[in-house]
Amino acid sequence: MQVVCLDLEGVLVPEIWIAFSERTGIPEFRRTTRDEPDYDKLMRYRIDLLDQHDLKLPDIQRVIAGMSPMEGARAFLDRLRGRFQVVILSDTFYEFADPLMQQLGRPTLFCHRLLADASGRVVDYRLRQKDQKRNAVNALKGLNFQVLAAGDSYNDTGMLQAADAGFFIHPPENIVAQFPQFPVTRSYAELEAAIDDASARLAAAA
Ligand SMILES: [Mg+2]
Repeated sequence: MQVVCLDLEGVLVPEIWIAFSERTGIPEFRRTTRDEPDYDKLMRYRIDLLDQHDLKLPDIQRVIAGMSPMEGARAFLDRLRGRFQVVILSDTFYEFADPLMQQLGRPTLFCHRLLADASGRVVDYRLRQKDQKRNAVNALKGLNFQVLAAGDSYNDTGMLQAADAGFFIHPPENIVAQFPQFPVTRSYAELEAAIDDASARLAAAA
């Protein structure tokens, strides 16, 4: 039995905070882990910024509801789900991802949570656990699944490493140079072909 694990942002949907920054016209939301490597600091900064602009959870969800998955993402995912069980492993939040997951046909999603008070003000966040992508792949392997995985960035490398077969899809060049062990694909068609090959190889070896 094989399961495919996919990253969400940069793979099936645009980077949510960047799209959110563009939609709201608030450039400070573009700040990412590349500018602030301390994730907790970055999230506190974002939560303060939401407060400053009086943006509550329903406002955020309305903005995100105006976003769309990447071109071809839904068709790719539907084809993949016709042949494999697919789990999306993401470092986004359920409360953010929901409008986009609806447009993707609600695949299984493991991610984190944002906490809001009764007025909808975002007050905190909860990680499912540290290094959840890698841990999820290892848990699936513990259930005797072979795992194939694909992602586009640093936060996917633990998952790609833990998987029986791991691929990049349209990653930034600096990441390719840093992690040459993972084959690079640049379109859904290429990734699909790579997954098919690896799937047949793993099935034969099992
Ligand atoms: Mg990503």
